[in-house]
Parts: sequence; C-alpha cells; structure tokens
Amino acid sequence: MANKDVTDPARMEKIVSLCKRRGFIFQAGELYGGLNGCWDYGPLGAELKRNLKDYWWRRTVQERDDVLGMDGAILTHQDVLKASGHVDGFNDPMSECPLTKARLRADQVPAAEPGTEFTFQGASDENSGKTSDKSITVLISAGKQDPERSAEKLAAQFYRELLGKGSKPVVGARTSQPGPREGALYNPENGVMLSEPRSFDLMLSTKLGALASDSDPKAIAYLRPETAQSIFCQYKNVLDSNRVKLPFGIAQMGKSFRNEINPRNYIFRSREFEQMEIEYFCHPNDGLRLTDEWLEERLKFYGEIGIPREKLHILDIPDGERAFYSQKTYDIEYEFPFGVQELEGVAYRTDYDLGVHEKGAGKSLVYFDEETKEKFLPHVVEPSAGCDRTVLALICEAFEEETLSDEKGKEDVRTVLRFVPRMAPIKVGIFPLLKKNEEQVRICREIQKMLQPWMNVFTTMQAQ
Ligand code: ATP
Repeated sequence: MANKDVTDPARMEKIVSLCKRRGFIFQAGELYGGLNGCWDYGPLGAELKRNLKDYWWRRTVQERDDVLGMDGAILTHQDVLKASGHVDGFNDPMSECPLTKARLRADQVPAAEPGTEFTFQGASDENSGKTSDKSITVLISAGKQDPERSAEKLAAQFYRELLGKGSKPVVGARTSQPGPREGALYNPENGVMLSEPRSFDLMLSTKLGALASDSDPKAIAYLRPETAQSIFCQYKNVLDSNRVKLPFGIAQMGKSFRNEINPRNYIFRSREFEQMEIEYFCHPNDGLRLTDEWLEERLKFYGEIGIPREKLHILDIPDGERAFYSQKTYDIEYEFPFGVQELEGVAYRTDYDLGVHEKGAGKSLVYFDEETKEKFLPHVVEPSAGCDRTVLALICEAFEEETLSDEKGKEDVRTVLRFVPRMAPIKVGIFPLLKKNEEQVRICREIQKMLQPWMNVFTTMQAQ
C-alpha cells in the first residue's frame, strides 16, 4: 500500500491549470474576483460530471430491483434539520493561526513533531514606542538550526502585523520548553500554536416568502447540507406508493451546501457540491452484513469508472471515533495529489434517522412485515459519495504526461487524459480529411447526426 503522506503539489498545480485551459472547471464568479468555495463546470467538465452521474444512477437505480430514485427539494423545512440535529450540531471545530489567520479544522491538524516551544509575551515598536502585550507560541522542530532565531523571526512577523506597517518590533520576554505541549495544536505550515478550537456553523440558510422579515424565525429555511434528509422524510411515502418490501433503498443525487470555513484543495472541499447518496432500509439483523456488502459494491463501482483498487484506501472507523449512533463506518479514500482523502462514507446508521424524524414529526415510521407480522423501525445503511470529489479523482487518475521524441531525438512532453471510455467527456471525434471536399463533409455530417442522439460528438467542422 502506498505511503499515505505522500503529496505532489506540482502535479496538482498542473491538473488545476489544465482543467481551466481545457474548459473543465472554472472558479465561480471569476469575472468579479471569484466566489470562494464555488466552481463552475465548463463544457468538458459538465460532460464528465454528467457521465459519472448517469453511470451512478444506472448502477444504483436502473440496474437494481431494490433501489428507487428520488429528487428532493434543496430548500429544507427548518424542523427537518432541527430533528436531524443539524441546526444545533452541524459545525466544525476550527482553530486559527494567529500569524497567518488561516483557519484549520481542529480534528484534521496533524500531530506536531517534537522540538522546542518558544513563547513571546509581547513587543514594542522601536520607532513609535507603541506596544503589544499579545503572546505568541511557536514550536520549532528538533533538528532545525538556530531554533531561537527561527522563532524570533516568526514572532517579529506577528508583532509587525499588530504594531502596524513599517514598525520595527523589539520582541520582549521569551520562555522556552520542550514541545509539543499536550493537547495543543500547531499550524503545520509554520509551527505557530493555534487558537483553542471554536465551533463554526456549516449551515446555509435563507428566508422564504415575500414578506419574510429578518426577525421572523419561522421564515428561515435551509439549503440542504446533505441529500439524505429528504430521503428519510419521504421514506414512508416511497414505501406506500411503490409497494416495496424491506430491504430496499432510495437513491438521490443533487446539490448540497455547507458553509465550509476553509474551502480547499480545488473542488475537493467546496461550499456548493453534489452528493450521490443511497439510504438502504433494512431489518436490524441485516445492518452490519449489508454495510460490508455495500462497501464491496461501491468499490466495484470505482473500478468500473477507472479508479483502480490500489489507489483506494478503506478506513474502518474505530469505536469512539464514529458518530455515536453508527455501528460501523467505512471511509473510502483516494490518493489525491494533496494526500489520501475521503471520497465516500459507507455508514451503518442504525434506526437513528427514522427515530429522530418519528419523534420530530410525531408520526409513526414503523414498518410492518406482512410475512413475519413483525413491526419495527427500519435500520439504514448509507453509502454517501461526493460527485465533485469523484470527478476530481477521475481527472487526477486520467492525467498523464507523456514524453515523446521526434525522429531527431528531440523530446517533448504532452499531456494526455486517459479516461475509461464510459467516463470520457468526448466519445468520438469526426474529422473530414479535406474540409473543403463537400462530399467528405456531407458524409461526416451524416455520421455526426447518426451518433448525436447517443453521445457527445466532437468535430472540427463548422456548425451549419
Ligand atoms: P469531510 O469529513 O471531508 O468533511 P464528511 O464526512 O463530513 O466529509 P459526509 O457528510 O459523510 O462528509 O458527506 C458524504 C460525502 O459528501 C463525502 O464523502 C464527500 O465526498 C462529500 N462532501 C462532503 N462535504 C463536501 C464538501 N464540502 N465539498 C465536496 N464534497 C463534499
């Protein structure tokens, strides 16, 4: 298995630049300086994403007898998300770097290397005499030459910001001790100790109705943070209107919104993204077995779209780290150029979701098994994938630089995107050898028209 810590920022940079040049992905609102955490898919990107979504739908809904599709509203009743726990509890613990102001998710900050920790208690400006009594702590890893100087440099940078442009900070009292300190978090970029984690709400809300006023809490609706909740809320309607029996699933794909504090790694973590989720309802006795089966099913899917098994890592989330209601959770991770990161979660959520909605709405969601005469609240297995993350994995996987040499031995590097055919944004290209030869162009057009109902055809012929 590959080393999980290996990253390749240069490769990632090339991918991002290629995606823009070739019209896969653009920054949303770029013309106006960009909207952070939001992306627009250009012609090739839209086609690639559509191929992925179509194939996911085909494999999960069309080709299975036990999964039905739905397409729920994005705007979500506040009571739904109150009952699910999102309104009060959907937040990330964030820590801030006092020097760079970068906000990092506290649960994702890597453990710091041993070294020496320096704390500075304040500074004064040599020019103006202005002072600051703010403190800053810096961890300089062992092995670094002249740790005092490195720490002082960072502290001077910090106080320069505080004392104003052009200031010449004279750094005051300093203490040192071996580090890292237990429980403390340090910015992996510079070693500066981060602030205590604070909760940041991830929910995006809006007001509904023409007369909605800012002070009317009832007018609040949320942009869904996941597609799952409308599935849970419509579970009974789907069941009753389709005469299905347990086990069965409801699949949905579509936009979700999270006010990520620190959108990053290109389209990997955005504020607006698409999910492809299945809620698979089952008897409590079958939950664990079905979780393993769904994991296998999903791994097979990734193989079919061109993401090889050896690039995927399965994280079996240990007891104590899973959501409290989950009896089993697997994260399927992919080796992105910026590190091994989650593509999809496959979680056995027990009867938590139907339970909270039963309580929240005050309506029974109990299932009656005609054969066994048993009544129970179904349990749920949830394979929940990110569409944009998968698109990014597909592009990363397809990206290849080929070195070619001409007959004189001169080398040239060309970039190739090797998508598997079912994902490829362009399926076929039609090029008349002689663009001015009317007969050739006519035949090419005929072939183009014949193929167009079935696939996206690329051609260099002028539109007629
Ligand atoms: P993470 O830990 O990376 O924030 P999560 O565990 O909160 O993800 P889930 O709530 O399980 O994610 O959502 C299911 C899937 O939706 C994820 O596996 C991921 O593929 C996708 N997803 C979640 N948040 C984002 C985001 N901000 N941008 C793009 N995709 C996302």
